[in-house]
Amino acid sequence: MSLKSKFIKYKKEFKFADHTITIARRIVQIVAFVILNYVILELIFSVNLLVLDGLFKVVPFLSSPNNHLTGGAGIVEYIYYSFVEGVFPVFLIGILILILLLTNRFFCGWICPVGAIQDACHAIPTKNKKSIKQTTHKKLLKLKFVPVILVLCVLIPLFVSKTLDPEFYTNYKQSVISIAQNPLGYFSLSEFLFYTMPNIFGQVFTSGNLEPLFENGILFVLYIVYLAIIIGSVWYPRLYCKYFCPVGAIFSMGSKYSFLKLSRSPVKCVGRTECGICENACPKQIKILDEPYEFYSGNGECNFCLKCKEVCPYGAINIKFA
Ligand code: SF4
Ligand code: SF4
Repeated sequence: MSLKSKFIKYKKEFKFADHTITIARRIVQIVAFVILNYVILELIFSVNLLVLDGLFKVVPFLSSPNNHLTGGAGIVEYIYYSFVEGVFPVFLIGILILILLLTNRFFCGWICPVGAIQDACHAIPTKNKKSIKQTTHKKLLKLKFVPVILVLCVLIPLFVSKTLDPEFYTNYKQSVISIAQNPLGYFSLSEFLFYTMPNIFGQVFTSGNLEPLFENGILFVLYIVYLAIIIGSVWYPRLYCKYFCPVGAIFSMGSKYSFLKLSRSPVKCVGRTECGICENACPKQIKILDEPYEFYSGNGECNFCLKCKEVCPYGAINIKFA
């Protein structure tokens, strides 16, 4: 029986159950999107939710970076800020490791608002949904580490000199002030969507002209790049997550050691020649069938969306905590 007919048979047999995970994920994503950007609630219902500000400061990784209402940033930004202040962020790194150990990249697959936007774009029905050639894909995966390393290279002298050479620290900080104050800044699509763009569009509306859009050349290039990435995700799922997200880069280094795992049953799985449906469905292009049976993470790229588990006609994919 061909792959296509197998999938059709599977869909007929499981027509009520086959979208359960996707439906659950969409609900979580929508709720998380509204909560994380609770400014939306304020706009729609004209209420003042500043009272939540404290909550989002306690759990900074749950707020949009630099959201003027939360005054917060993501956990990665807080780690960078600590380096700027000459403090080794042992507590924050500990929290980050704990989150990854206990929840893997559940945040990326189910909660991240930028992930939700890309998923929404990819859900737009179009012909020719695509995936990038595996060899090119593997090379592009490394791109997202570039900003992480660049920013660290800029900030490490600050961390070292804060106590050893205060004069150098002050002068150097002044020369890299824009990065010190906003380490991921231009590299963060969430900051761009939830902070930079609303601010600039606010200026456009209040001033009544388009000048604020073109004032900063770098920002203008970013409009184009980020717009292209968002439009591109209609055809290529999770384009930003896979190749550009600096937070995804950091998460991918830790998630492969998570206790929360996906495994594939060697007894139930019939393999690529007979099936391979899971690999075709994976938005992160992970070669699931080349990974060990007992635990697969695509070298930390898996975002725990569970699409592979949902589509497997043989129930061969399991979640385990070990
Ligand atoms: S894990 Fe499931 S979907 Fe993937 S190849 Fe094996 S049987 Fe097919
Ligand atoms: S391997 Fe499965 S859970 Fe991980 S990203 Fe791919 S489809 Fe989602």
